[in-house]
Amino acid sequence: MSDCLFCKIVAGDVPSTKVHETPTTLAFRDINPQADVHVLVVPKAHHEDAAALAAADPRLLADVVGAGAEVARLEGMAEPGYRLVFNTGEHAGRTVFHAHLHVLGGEQLGTFGR
Ligand code: 5GP
Ligand code: ZN
Repeated sequence: MSDCLFCKIVAGDVPSTKVHETPTTLAFRDINPQADVHVLVVPKAHHEDAAALAAADPRLLADVVGAGAEVARLEGMAEPGYRLVFNTGEHAGRTVFHAHLHVLGGEQLGTFGR
């Protein structure tokens, strides 16, 4: 999609700090980190959100989650742990409409939810 920020990051037209890449996924540091480690994993192909990705290409969704686990390992978070989040819709505060997995950790995380 020509007007999608994360498609532009995948294409290299918008700079990002790359952490990990596979043939189907790209992982880069969030520009406004919400934890000591905050990485976004995106499918290189454009899908609107996690549900659309699951419906259209479940193997690609599995690639994204697997890449998230690999990022956690590379960042030294496999132990003591980390959080994977897909935001969907307005109540989750979603801002970018290209499916992306948040990988959060590197510190003791707060209570999940509110
Ligand atoms: P959402 O709220 O849609 O789940 O998350 C979008 C995320 O993208 C936010 O955490 C935000 O900080 C991040 N973000 C927005 N613009 C950019 C950008 O240009 N570069 C990077 N690396 N992250 C971005
Ligand atoms: Zn896109």
